[in-house]
Amino acid sequence: KPYIAADSRYDQSHSLYRRCGRSGVLLPKVSLGFWHNFGGNDSYERARDITHYAFDHGITHFDLANNYGPPYGSAEETMGKLLCDDFFRYRDELFISTKAGYDMWPGPYGNWGSRKYLMASIDQSLRRMGLDYVDLFYSHRYDPQTPLEETLQALVDIVRAGKALYVGISRWPLEALKVADKYLRDHDVPLLIYQGRVNMIDHEPIDEGILDYCCEHGIGFISFSPLAQGLLTDRYLNGIPKDSRMAQGGSLTADKLTPELLAHLRQLNSEAQAQGHTLAENALAWILHQKGITSVLVGASSVGQLERNMKCIFD
Ligand code: NDP
Repeated sequence: KPYIAADSRYDQSHSLYRRCGRSGVLLPKVSLGFWHNFGGNDSYERARDITHYAFDHGITHFDLANNYGPPYGSAEETMGKLLCDDFFRYRDELFISTKAGYDMWPGPYGNWGSRKYLMASIDQSLRRMGLDYVDLFYSHRYDPQTPLEETLQALVDIVRAGKALYVGISRWPLEALKVADKYLRDHDVPLLIYQGRVNMIDHEPIDEGILDYCCEHGIGFISFSPLAQGLLTDRYLNGIPKDSRMAQGGSLTADKLTPELLAHLRQLNSEAQAQGHTLAENALAWILHQKGITSVLVGASSVGQLERNMKCIFD
């Protein structure tokens, strides 16, 4: 049956949105990532339910990348199908991002930061999603072999060509971020946002001064893996559930769950419970309390997870 978005979706807007740096864009404090659970091997119906729940509750920002899946490209195809089935009429209420920077297709032009790769990748992404433009296009990682100016000029030209409205960078070191900030400003395509991993147990961008730099220079910051892929929830406190990400054999391997970390997570969980919260809720609220954070970019394998995690916006 046709999807009609909930009339109440913006009822909490006073507490849900934050300005992204010194830009005109507001992003939801909780954004939804398509890295896991939205690929061609995942249930479309579940992906659809999660996306409906998100949009019905004011989550307007969906984050993708060319190679999210598996297989590569299939999360964008899922987004294309969602748009086709349910969301085209809401296109102007959505803020959709994608990226290029990691391995995508074979050969020397399907990876890293060349103009050749970025230009082809954005066109492929638009085709898979059936879109004329994305709201935000990222360089997904710093490429030490390609002149930064080549990557940055490609981002500028993608905006000039109308294929993206804004640009961002992800996982670039501080010195390269400074170059990007200046280059993009000088070319009238200011850097909208930096995407980096900040959570309670892993916060290199804070330690390296990246978050402070963004905050001082009017650049937004969105935190990926805010729950450390599920570690900062009750998921692994009593073993490794069969349906969990850790059991599926991706980058979240069982050796990450050391006895010391487990003891620390149990401690954080008890503290959260004593406050009447969940560990996940506290972990997200901790990030949102850091100065300069625009949004936490969560993943979810069920509607219930997203529902519980959204409580953090009121903490
Ligand atoms: P999270 O840290 O939010 O981890 C999400 C996972 O944690 C879920 O899939 C689920 O795993 C588990 N989880 C979430 N909520 C709960 C809950 N309430 N109770 C129990 N378990 C829960 O984020 P991700 O690592 O998924 O990353 C989010 C997004 O960030 C990605 O989709 C992507 O858009 C972006 N990203 C960007 C990167 C970059 O290089 N720029 C790198 C990585 C991510 P389970 O399957 O076990 O249920």
